[in-house]
Amino acid sequence: MSLFQKFFTKPKSIQLSVTSNNGFHLRPVAQFVSLAKTFSCQITATFKDKTVDAKGVNTLLSLSLEKGDSFTITLRGKKSEEALSKLHLLFESLMANEKKVKKVKKELYSYEGNAIEGEIISEGIAIAPTYHYSAKEIQNESRLSFQEALHKSLDELETLYSRNQKNDNATIYLAQKELLTSLGEKSQTLTKFEQLIKKESALLLGTKLDSKSSDYKDLLQRVKRHLGIEIKVTFPSIPFILFANDLLPSEIDNLTQTQVVGVVLKDTSLYSHTAILLRDTGMPALIADITPLTEKADIILDTYSGVAICKPTPKDLQKATHRLQKNKKQKTMAPKKRFENANTREGKNIKVFANIADINSAKTAKNEGAEGIGLLRSEFLFKEEKPTLELQTKAYKEIFSLFDDITVRTLDIGGDKELPYIKLPKENNPFLGIRGARLFKTHPEIISEQLHAIFIASQNKSIKIMFPMISSVKEFNDAKEFAYTVAKKHQIDISQLQFGMMIEVPSVLFLIEDFNEVVDFYSIGTNDLTQYLFAIERTHPTLKTDALSPVIFDAIKMVVKKATKPVSICGELAANKDAIPKLLELDMETLSVSPKSIAQTKEEIRNV
Ligand code: PEP
Ligand code: MG
Repeated sequence: MSLFQKFFTKPKSIQLSVTSNNGFHLRPVAQFVSLAKTFSCQITATFKDKTVDAKGVNTLLSLSLEKGDSFTITLRGKKSEEALSKLHLLFESLMANEKKVKKVKKELYSYEGNAIEGEIISEGIAIAPTYHYSAKEIQNESRLSFQEALHKSLDELETLYSRNQKNDNATIYLAQKELLTSLGEKSQTLTKFEQLIKKESALLLGTKLDSKSSDYKDLLQRVKRHLGIEIKVTFPSIPFILFANDLLPSEIDNLTQTQVVGVVLKDTSLYSHTAILLRDTGMPALIADITPLTEKADIILDTYSGVAICKPTPKDLQKATHRLQKNKKQKTMAPKKRFENANTREGKNIKVFANIADINSAKTAKNEGAEGIGLLRSEFLFKEEKPTLELQTKAYKEIFSLFDDITVRTLDIGGDKELPYIKLPKENNPFLGIRGARLFKTHPEIISEQLHAIFIASQNKSIKIMFPMISSVKEFNDAKEFAYTVAKKHQIDISQLQFGMMIEVPSVLFLIEDFNEVVDFYSIGTNDLTQYLFAIERTHPTLKTDALSPVIFDAIKMVVKKATKPVSICGELAANKDAIPKLLELDMETLSVSPKSIAQTKEEIRNV
């Protein structure tokens, strides 16, 4: 871009407001910068009297933007309009999706030994001797230059980021990569780099970003490792509770390979990357100062109550051991009890069914303790080529022989699901176009053959047939009539079959009374229902909905209240442990979940 373009085209600017409780901190800043850098226009950010480059993590972080602050981004040059709208969109979604780290409520405790109280990173119980962290720097040989080590470190962080894409915490690596890029640009040698890190860390002291100094140390250590300077840490070979001033985010992975059963850190915060990654491991972790404790003595780490008990009495140990065993039992019992009924504490029986896609997942579901099939996603049965009637019939027969209660959904193609042998028109909004039951009109031969196969396979069996993406009563009636015409054409008696529908289009919520007259059952598909309620595509790369939004539970409540036919739920929400108690409270009696979630879902129900 020429200097003329950069400075003489009219700048575009917009004011952005920080609404997240955590402020505009390292991870969202890194995502913002990473997008900003894809544009060649100049992008600056101004807050109060300070204007900085918005393509640098450090510069942007130096504005220390907290919740409630508004700042302006100004863009000059090529494609600044497009950049502005994309950055605006990203910023809004970063603010909206920022998860607040919940402060865990401490349970009351009654130990006799000395209790050191702290802040809970993650809950659990551990009983073991403490081990105080110590590390030694070892110089090995290395032929790499500082610049090469820097590049290798950046590559490593990029790999970690892309490998962990599915994980919420992948952005930690992106943040570290952006941080390293901006620090690296300013340092030519390791000494300069080390000095810069010291200086930047000192600037963070006492600020909200204090805990990010462990990211700086982590980066230094990563680069040093490529220069042959290794940090050697030894851990005991028996179970231990680790005590350290702080740990580096990159050390958490290694730590999980040791005998560690709990962690106490002195100088971190609930929001540090170290704490986030520790929380992911599931082990009990606390922020507290237990420096005075002598090593090797057994302590109790009870992070339900947020305490470390030093010099526990035999009674304390007995109490903690009992709690520990109960926890372990719960974890190991779930798979063992997978074939047992799932009854709530009050004795109400809840059916746990499976969502399956083919014969293999049907067999897995059987093995995992499914009591029936709540959703057979038939679109995944034949993914490559158009199947013959015989092949389809065989597949359905095989699956139908495994369970008594089976719901098979007619092809739900369109939106995010495609099949190479079903051609759909190119549409601007495929999620709002030819999808699900709308195929009855556009592809009648395919649906007709599918229904024919299902009818042959279900003779003498009361299979439930479900239509996807129903948005009006007429659509349902037309689909059912279509099915009856197919049966009549092939002279098959289908009087034993039931016909129902997915509830995944919001219009249906207001039509339940009318649907009651024509359907035999309902199944709530929260995956699509959520996307259509919030108008956020379920596959959208940045926009995310809140899976536990009260809106979704209100929608379910509406259905359950008005429905006079059985209602089950087959969206992902059915296996969400935070949703299960609410779903049961709303009187849901059948949850259909993925085969691997059956045992755990049953166990969650037993605890309600
Ligand atoms: C749903 O939408 O919740 C559902 C179960 O169907 P699918 O995920 O197959 O669209
Ligand atoms: Mg759906």
